[in-house]
Amino acid sequence: MLKYLREDIQDFSPYGVVEKNVPIKLDANEGYQRPDGLNRYPNDRANDLQMKLAQKLARKPAEILLGNGSSELIDLVLKAYLETGEIVVSISPTFSMYKQYTIIHKGIYREYPLRNMMRLDADGFLEFISEIKPKIVILCNPNNPTGTTLPWKDVMRIISNVDAMVILDQAYIEFADNPGFFDPRELKNLIILRTFSKAWGLAGIRLGYMIANTETINCIHRIRSPYNLNTLTQELGLLALKEGPEATIELVKSERIRMTQALIKLGITPLPSQTNFLFFAAHEYIYNSLMKNGIMIRRFNRELAGYFRLTIGNPEENNAVLE
Ligand code: PMP
Repeated sequence: MLKYLREDIQDFSPYGVVEKNVPIKLDANEGYQRPDGLNRYPNDRANDLQMKLAQKLARKPAEILLGNGSSELIDLVLKAYLETGEIVVSISPTFSMYKQYTIIHKGIYREYPLRNMMRLDADGFLEFISEIKPKIVILCNPNNPTGTTLPWKDVMRIISNVDAMVILDQAYIEFADNPGFFDPRELKNLIILRTFSKAWGLAGIRLGYMIANTETINCIHRIRSPYNLNTLTQELGLLALKEGPEATIELVKSERIRMTQALIKLGITPLPSQTNFLFFAAHEYIYNSLMKNGIMIRRFNRELAGYFRLTIGNPEENNAVLE
């Protein structure tokens, strides 16, 4: 939404890239010709990929913005909307980069604790928000590191009732049983972020995307670096879209059930996961003995000391963990 955009970029226009197919192109100071065409800058807005993704999502291309992983997109949203000293609110525990980016953009990060690491008191959260008046609210759903989800109704109520931009980080949405749907055409303050790093298995190409209404997308274009999505990523993203992630998602979901049940038998109870990882409390011994066997899981510290996060691997890797 334009009204929440940083004051100093209200009248700012994006870097103008003129993209025309001409036989002799000498306008961009590109280097000498190469047979693979990589001497050329990429398409600035990744038009082909933007269009294919838009088709898949039943959106207009102008409602999609692509980025160098969803990490870049979190950074860009904060860059566009947050003024020095303004507040970003999220739940706790959640993805640690929200706090990092807030501090980088000179904002103040405030968190609202989940009950038993998984339930959100939506009324309390809304009250907290109306008291401290954040510019941006970030909800990670399904949530990292807990793997749990908030009820669709609560998320909807929060988005519709706050006077702030809302980032809904759906990095793990493909693994959720009831993904729900939130429409940024109606929820004007909503920005949905997704990634190819998880369900699509393409963390190495750094590809994420934003779904928002065109007004919001145009706000982000103002501060996005030109050519932020490189040519190779654009090509590989197009190839990936032809196949889709469905096969891997099913495998992850069935391994998630198998691993959850097996861990419970071993006396470790993970939170109910809607992602490709399990989050649980365990003795440090578990971490150390896995590590001795060449298996690394994520160990948390400070307020999450004693908690661990295990990514669902392939069946052989998962068997090795259980052994
Ligand atoms: N959001 C969440 C919740 C994540 O867990 C991650 C990766 N750990 C990201 C965003 C960033 O993902 P990427 O930049 O690879 O798209």
